[in-house]
Amino acid sequence: MAGAAAPKVVRLEVQRNWCKGCGICVALCPKEVLKLDEFGKVTVAEPAACIGCGRCEDHCPDFVISVEVEEK
Ligand code: SF4
Ligand code: SF4
Repeated sequence: MAGAAAPKVVRLEVQRNWCKGCGICVALCPKEVLKLDEFGKVTVAEPAACIGCGRCEDHCPDFVISVEVEEK
């Protein structure tokens, strides 16, 4: 399918208990997918908006987030 962007499925896995609430992932996500909840832990607020860029995974100091992109 030349030219067309391949549809993809993005899976975000969050080890919430490891999150120390630094907010780096929230600040770096270009799509405002991630938020801190009332306990100061990361939460996936807008899963459908995630483009699978991997910034959150790359920059979390505590390896809380893993991003898996599956091309369809
Ligand atoms: S992969 Fe990119 S778009 Fe998705 S939550 Fe992480 S930083 Fe945001
Ligand atoms: S970068 Fe990691 S530790 Fe910091 S708020 Fe995000 S998930 Fe939590």
